[in-house]
Amino acid sequence: MESKNMIKKQDKIGALPVTVLGSTGSVGRQTMDVAQLHGLRVEGIAGARNITLLEEQIRRFSPAYCAVEDPEAAKLLRVAAADTQTKILSGREGVLWLAENGSARVVLNSIIGTAGLAPTLAAIRSKKNVALANKETLVTAGEFVMREAREQGVSVLPVDSEHCAIFQCLNGEPHDRITRLILTCSGGAFHGRKRDQLSGMKKDDALAHPTWKMGAKITVDCASLMNKGLELIEAVRLFDVAPDMVDIVIHKESIVHSMVEFCDRSVMAQMALPDMRLCIQYALTYPDRMPSHLEPLDLRRIGTLTFSEPDEETFTLLPLARRAVTEGGIKTAVLNGANEAAVSLFLQDKITFTDIFDLVEEVVDDTANMKNPTLTDIEEADREARSAVIRKASRHGV
Ligand code: MG
Repeated sequence: MESKNMIKKQDKIGALPVTVLGSTGSVGRQTMDVAQLHGLRVEGIAGARNITLLEEQIRRFSPAYCAVEDPEAAKLLRVAAADTQTKILSGREGVLWLAENGSARVVLNSIIGTAGLAPTLAAIRSKKNVALANKETLVTAGEFVMREAREQGVSVLPVDSEHCAIFQCLNGEPHDRITRLILTCSGGAFHGRKRDQLSGMKKDDALAHPTWKMGAKITVDCASLMNKGLELIEAVRLFDVAPDMVDIVIHKESIVHSMVEFCDRSVMAQMALPDMRLCIQYALTYPDRMPSHLEPLDLRRIGTLTFSEPDEETFTLLPLARRAVTEGGIKTAVLNGANEAAVSLFLQDKITFTDIFDLVEEVVDDTANMKNPTLTDIEEADREARSAVIRKASRHGV
């Protein structure tokens, strides 16, 4: 049996271009660096409203298309880039059009939040491989996305570092020989603290991540360990394993990016210095492997690699995520929607750090589950979870 997630071998790197959705974000900017480093042709880019950076990317990469989600910003960019050959598309329809059309071999999707779901499905339905940096897509509607990808015969290539590691460890191994996936976790900004030490934490404390440089939302998720919970769900969907086959281990050095245990108890680990560009590059060039800009990994200099158990009594969102994916139905969409809304309130300094834990848990527990939901049910559950968080927060005086 072939590994479930294979890109066609005949697809030659560089022969067909890439499209980058969310090109102005943290992963998007690093993707553009990788494209430049390897001379990959960029056919399309899409961003929300940072037209200064979009214009710069247009001038650097001469893409055929640039989609701007904010229609007013699209108008301004049309004027600013009038002397270029790039066609400016506008609105969410513009982003979807870009995901569906053109000749891109891989669409890299790093749009933040559930807004990334529709473009992912659009790209898959037009038979494009998707390099996925948007984990919400798999958390909310992973079963749909993976089923659709199988039916269309395209690959979902993980850009998340843990899943990229697992994907590399699995390369060529049959699915039925996997016994365990071991996701490593840096521990986030608040590793080692107990619940009573977390309640007073504010935005700036949470945004100081020890090893990875990322956007604000995901950095908060790292501090709360929700990021690992979302990644657990992502792993279940992406690699089609039972939730109890995914272990989480704290590894604060971020050198082992994740591991796979096989039926003979052999464990494969993927190691490298922490740099998202390696994952992006692997997703864009798979099944090839190309040289990268990374420094060699010198384990003598690193000295010690440590591993420990996560504190699930303090960081309750991690066991909550495991429970949500085990229950299935709409629960993972509720979990994700509630978390996005709570983190957004936290980033506006409207709630405290531990309010995130309480609000998300309450909303997940209060929502009645629904078996075999449609995509519309999932979207509705996501919306309802967000408003439930805002309602509950305002009752607490926000
Ligand atoms: Mg990750």
